Amino acid sequence: MTRTTPDTDDRPIEGQGCHSGDELERAAREAGASDVLDRYAEDYPKGPHDKPQSMCPAFGSLRVGLRMKRVATVLSGSACCVYGLTFVSHFYGARRSVGYVPFSSETLVTGKLFEDIRDSVHEMADPDKFDAIVVTNLCVPTASGVPLRLLPKEINGVRIVGIDVPGFGIPTHAEAKDVLAGAMLAYAREEVAAGPVPAPEARVTDRPTLTLLGEMFPADPMTIGALLAPLGIAAGPVVPCREWRELYSALDCGGVAAIHPFYTAAVREFVAAGRPVIGSAPVGYEGTAAWLEAVGESFGIDPARIAEAKEAALPRIAEALAAAPIAGRITLSGYEGSELLVARLLIESGADLPYVGTACPKTRFSAEDAAWLEARGCRVRYRASLEDDVAAMQEFQPDLAIGTTPVVQKAKELGVPGLYYTNLISARPLMGAAGAGSLAEVVNAAMAGKGRMDRMRAFFEGVGADDTAGVWEGAPNLRPDFRRQHQKKLDKAARARAAQEMI
Ligand code: SF4
Repeated sequence: MTRTTPDTDDRPIEGQGCHSGDELERAAREAGASDVLDRYAEDYPKGPHDKPQSMCPAFGSLRVGLRMKRVATVLSGSACCVYGLTFVSHFYGARRSVGYVPFSSETLVTGKLFEDIRDSVHEMADPDKFDAIVVTNLCVPTASGVPLRLLPKEINGVRIVGIDVPGFGIPTHAEAKDVLAGAMLAYAREEVAAGPVPAPEARVTDRPTLTLLGEMFPADPMTIGALLAPLGIAAGPVVPCREWRELYSALDCGGVAAIHPFYTAAVREFVAAGRPVIGSAPVGYEGTAAWLEAVGESFGIDPARIAEAKEAALPRIAEALAAAPIAGRITLSGYEGSELLVARLLIESGADLPYVGTACPKTRFSAEDAAWLEARGCRVRYRASLEDDVAAMQEFQPDLAIGTTPVVQKAKELGVPGLYYTNLISARPLMGAAGAGSLAEVVNAAMAGKGRMDRMRAFFEGVGADDTAGVWEGAPNLRPDFRRQHQKKLDKAARARAAQEMI
């Protein structure tokens, strides 16, 4: 027997994916996953960008798990999804195997898949090798209600963490990182409440610490540590953590800096542990000044000492900004969550930046950055879609478009230099004086390439586009009649769907 979704008798649920519209979500709710989906809807509010427009969201949580020492990751989902996810993980340098529990219509429907998952975690739970095993339900097992919450919480001392990361509940891979970080912090908080926990292997400080929320360039936590030193505060662990024990010291902090503003589930755990959380980050001159004040106030530090910390940091940042100016118009977009911080830095470096789009949602932790940007004439678009980003680029005709791959591709087609945000911008230092000069080199070099873009465009002028793109021996065999006929079918199906929804 094959399980089918409620309104389609002939489409087995295991054959569906990102392209299946609302069917998987309906199926998941029928299968009892409403509480999880409602929580996700609250944590990751949707906007115009309500479906993944880039990579599978589960890549975010998978990467967080793969980066942790002594943590195993197991995926449960369609083979094609798992293939894609493991491929991308290894492309980005995962040096660990990804576990996979395959399924068929039968194991999905009879509940055998859950038993298979349970057997596999029992088999893997070796305390000499692992502190934790993370099991992730992808779209189809989530839609089928495979109940990971019923897995044992611990086997032989190895923690079992089960999460649902469906593309129809988590809009971006950035927010999927929060799903796992939040689940791990919740687990660790329960452990702390239950009794003593092991100390972290890394350095221990007697100063109060500030936990840093969000993956960043490896030197940035050190820069932040140097900025905090005059306040008598140390930089704490970065969440998502690199080992289980760090979760305890992350919770045992004096405050939390939401450097990336979308970690809603993680913040919930810190708030439950009684920790104050501040937003924004020490980027540029004004950003660093405001951030040091916010940290100082949150830790109840004497204003004179905060002034000293600013005096120690700000002149060097001003110098670095002056030494690496950026002149030109830039549009900026991405899906990492750090877009508003980069936008601030670009503007402080002298760039004319009329638009910043982020695929992440609006939260209170980026409100100050958004207000700062808007006061400088920059349009801030949360949950920006690809269409928003491309439209902004076309509207503002920038000297450089920084964005996701399709935005950059579009820019290059138009002869506008483009830089890929994830690899070329977000993977650079951004904080303090080190960040202040770090973007100019790559940004200025890209803008200087405008002449080359124009020459390439002129060279390819007349080469086909859209239907006529590619190499053709003769004229492309266009069939507008077929196309019209197909469009009619699509329109008819859309009308039928709309009518069905009205019933
Ligand atoms: S798991 Fe990822 S790739 Fe697979 S259907 Fe869901 S969103 Fe798409």
